[in-house]
Amino acid sequence: MITKSKGTYDILPDESKKWHLLETAIRKVSARYNFKEIRTPIFESSDLFHRSVGETSDIVTKETYNFSDRKGRSITLRPEGTASVVRSVIEHKLYAESNLPLKYYYVGPMFRYERPQKGRQRQFHQFGAETLGSKTPLADAETIAYALDFLHEIGMEDVTVHINSLGDGESKTHYRDQLRAYLEPNINMLCEDCQRRFEDNPLRILDCKVDKDNPVLKDAPKPLDWLSDNDKMHFEDVLGYLDAMGIDYVIDDRLVRGLDYYTHTVFELEADHKSLGAQSVVCAGGRYNHLVKSLNGPDFPAVGFAFGLERLLLTIPDEIVAEEEGVDLFFIAMGKNVNHKAMSIVKFLRDEGWSVDYDFFNRSLKAQFKQAERNNPAYYLIFGDDELSSGTINIKNATTGDQESVRLDDLKTRLVSLFAENA
Ligand code: ATP
Ligand code: MG
Repeated sequence: MITKSKGTYDILPDESKKWHLLETAIRKVSARYNFKEIRTPIFESSDLFHRSVGETSDIVTKETYNFSDRKGRSITLRPEGTASVVRSVIEHKLYAESNLPLKYYYVGPMFRYERPQKGRQRQFHQFGAETLGSKTPLADAETIAYALDFLHEIGMEDVTVHINSLGDGESKTHYRDQLRAYLEPNINMLCEDCQRRFEDNPLRILDCKVDKDNPVLKDAPKPLDWLSDNDKMHFEDVLGYLDAMGIDYVIDDRLVRGLDYYTHTVFELEADHKSLGAQSVVCAGGRYNHLVKSLNGPDFPAVGFAFGLERLLLTIPDEIVAEEEGVDLFFIAMGKNVNHKAMSIVKFLRDEGWSVDYDFFNRSLKAQFKQAERNNPAYYLIFGDDELSSGTINIKNATTGDQESVRLDDLKTRLVSLFAENA
């Protein structure tokens, strides 16, 4: 038997209903914030992720799915969405539009080679959003409000906003040097990955899951202490706008993100929910002021977030989607000669917009009714040799059992009034 690949899973019909619920909430809240959907390809040139997510990030060094296509091009299955959105904005010169900032959201599968566990898959889905072309702290605050509103929309109230600032330019470089100087004498006490990160990506050490309780990191310098006045002001403005919107937050002076491109604000939303276990961070994001330029676009500051949808799915109770949806009509045909006419009526009814199903015709009446019940119709339509010759059809109300015979010519009109009566 061929089975699914490790770290992937099938979304079966019952589970799909939960996805619809999430997707509906995404569209609704995105419209409220006036973000438009963008859809980019699932694979991209590997360079894109090397240059954006970062050559030295865990994602690029350990987690990407890479392959060569038949012409020897190096291709990567996207591990995240921001890089592709930025590439698309640059490629289509969307920034030439006058209505800046650009506000885009995306939903789709991402791929990372990780150790699969609850809330962590190799093919998983993200809902993300990006605001491009604005450096105002208003955009950072709006991004956080939007993310939070989405969680409220799906009924998740118990959420903590963790926020920090990494600064930009000199603040960031300066801080990096301080951190290196502090860590250098103790580098041997850190995990192997962190020893490697020390050279290329020292900020990432603060985010290490292995070393998170390591005493060396407890007294490490913090980004906030090294912010320039301007960077400090940006951060305070973001917090001021959050206050103005009544959004609570916790300043987490150790929060950094695993991707290289972040500047200024970084944040995570942590949900308190029993089904999440260790995977309680459902959303992460921040500002990335130089990514667009570094991919040869204009000097375009930006800010965004990404949700892991599988984690949210774990929190949606089964009862929410337990309600069985039925079809409008179930067609039951009896007799060898009726099949063609029966199919033409079914097609006609579907064209008129009703949901219609049928069992394979000519099975026993009992078998067909049994199949009909599984589909929970509002009405049965019963059609046999007699009806074929008289040009009629029987309509049976599935709830009351009332049955009537109507002329085929009148079927549509009669069904319209029956559905209207019972609406
Ligand atoms: P983590 O620390 O959990 O590995 P991350 O920092 O790698 O997360 P991001 O790259 O910021 O995550 O992605 C944003 C969100 O996407 C995460 O907060 C999480 O909810 C979700 N996510 C990331 N990787 C996975 C995965 N392998 N499976 C399911 N969801 C994921
Ligand atoms: Mg990760």
